[in-house]
Amino acid sequence: MTMITAIDTTPRIWVGCLACYNNGNLTGEWFDAIEGDDITLGDVHGGAQYVSPGCEELWVLDHENLPLKGECSPHDAAQVALVVEEVHESDREAFIAWALSGDQIEDGDGLPSTSDFEERYCGTWASFREFAENLADDIALLDGIPDEIARYFDWQSWTRDLAFDYTTCNIDSGVYVFRSI
Ligand SMILES: [Zn+2]
Repeated sequence: MTMITAIDTTPRIWVGCLACYNNGNLTGEWFDAIEGDDITLGDVHGGAQYVSPGCEELWVLDHENLPLKGECSPHDAAQVALVVEEVHESDREAFIAWALSGDQIEDGDGLPSTSDFEERYCGTWASFREFAENLADDIALLDGIPDEIARYFDWQSWTRDLAFDYTTCNIDSGVYVFRSI
């Protein structure tokens, strides 16, 4: 498993005023996403309450370290951030990848389930093949089989069949592996 160190995984949101944005005045600020419900118009207007006609609604126009596709309200971002912050920092990038994978399990509120993630996450590997070979060791797949026979074992087919039960997300250093079943 790869050790991930010193990566900032704090969920952040760039919040702007929707009316200003629609008037072509891109005014906003970065915040910790968890504070989404406490952000005010003044916070994104440099202190002023109203800048454009209709200043009212705050909107998340950009974000980082959150499993969100596109824009949302600061409230929704804060709800997702609470879930992300339940996950240990070293696993957050994997959690976010899983939550966006299409294979994630959601709880009753439509948020990715951290307990399902923990059950399914099998670590970060250089390749799925490396994961498969490690698993074969763990389950003692070829134990008791003489080396002169074991060396003919068809790793390629075995790995391909195994892959049906897993989801992988590619990253620069390899793959995140998740159990699908
Ligand atoms: Zn405004």
